[in-house]
Amino acid sequence: MTQTTTDVHVSTLDDYAEVLGAAAIAEIRALAKRLQGRTVLMVNSTPVGGGVAEMLNRAVPLMQELEIGVRWDVITGGDDFFAVTKAFHNALHGGTFDLPEESFATFLAYNEQNRARLHFDADFTVIHDPQPVALIEARQNHGGHWIWRCHIDLSRPNRKVWEFLEPFVSRYDGAIFSSPEFSRQLPIPQYLFYPSIDPLADKNRELDPGVITEVLQRFGIDAQRPILTQISRFDRLKDPLGVVRAYQIVKRYFDCQLVLAGGGASDDPEGEAVLAEVRDAAGKDADIHILDLPPWSATEINALQRASTIIIQKSLREGFGLTVTEGLWKKKPVVASAVGGIPTQVIHKHTGLLVHSIEGTAYQIRFLLSNPAIAQRLGEQGHEHVREHFLITSSVRGALTLFLHLSGKESK
Ligand code: UDP
Repeated sequence: MTQTTTDVHVSTLDDYAEVLGAAAIAEIRALAKRLQGRTVLMVNSTPVGGGVAEMLNRAVPLMQELEIGVRWDVITGGDDFFAVTKAFHNALHGGTFDLPEESFATFLAYNEQNRARLHFDADFTVIHDPQPVALIEARQNHGGHWIWRCHIDLSRPNRKVWEFLEPFVSRYDGAIFSSPEFSRQLPIPQYLFYPSIDPLADKNRELDPGVITEVLQRFGIDAQRPILTQISRFDRLKDPLGVVRAYQIVKRYFDCQLVLAGGGASDDPEGEAVLAEVRDAAGKDADIHILDLPPWSATEINALQRASTIIIQKSLREGFGLTVTEGLWKKKPVVASAVGGIPTQVIHKHTGLLVHSIEGTAYQIRFLLSNPAIAQRLGEQGHEHVREHFLITSSVRGALTLFLHLSGKESK
């Protein structure tokens, strides 16, 4: 078990009844009863950092409470492997792929190494994202149902990389995507599952005002002036430099502060270089707070989001964008790029504001700072939207339903 959890509070299913109502929880228990004793293996490429780890950290304990035997394993690899998978990631999001031909062999060699190291004895194996996709090779010796859970936007992938990965994907029993627009034409069934957040996790639960004040003081942030925040790994696709530029435009009109907070993920080798670029762009402006957070910063992130006047997510490409979900859940007005899964969450002028450029981002931030009543209404509507569609209990219910559906079919 490679799971790490940063949460101090361990929530049980009954705790969710308060947020969702007893009927929703009873439905989950009823579904799980039909799967008791069955086993599930989740495999991804990092135990912390990023949205996938975030979700697994919460979904795995809940399934265990439902007496389903869930194991979560993380593949290992050298820097050479993660350099390749990061290049794949960028290329699958529509970028170019400039690594040499040997990169494909490096990818396969590490998948092979992990295939030899891990145990594939579960009834249902869920492989997350492209990094471990070639583990499907293990299926011929072990059987069971195999699902590929893709968290990224595959709508415009680099052809060379996709042509390499597609034969692996096509051998699964099905593929799950986070949005209909993300999917590819495949010879296997495809399912739509929205990602989700846990309302009771340290990242999202209600906080005492004292905790928020303490966090602001610790980071030297002024609670009296507007706070614009983007929480994200320091990744170029999150466009932190664009956020700094947008803030600099807004700053001409409003005395506000910018918080750019994030850490690295062990499967992302570019973080340090991007962090240096952001520091450089921020220059000597004392109202720009660049916070390099360690992975155990759930309460800090919660407090920063709750203290914010506006949450920004100015990504150039995005998977689903869990930071947006987190901001909406906290009833914050969100200004976010219309990319990836963000438009599913931010319905323009209803649950937030969508933007397409640095200037547009600055314009909408200025609009919200000038219209606090509208900002508040967007935040409240955003909260309801998340409650209906993007909470962890919906994910667990979806997974159980899919497992039951697959159980009705014979495994290969
Ligand atoms: N996150 C975190 N620490 C950081 C940066 C991000 O815990 O330093 C969390 C963030 O709160 C969110 C997730 O990681 O829950 C990021 O998910 P998202 O879908 O926004 O982006 P990804 O990193 O998966 O591209």
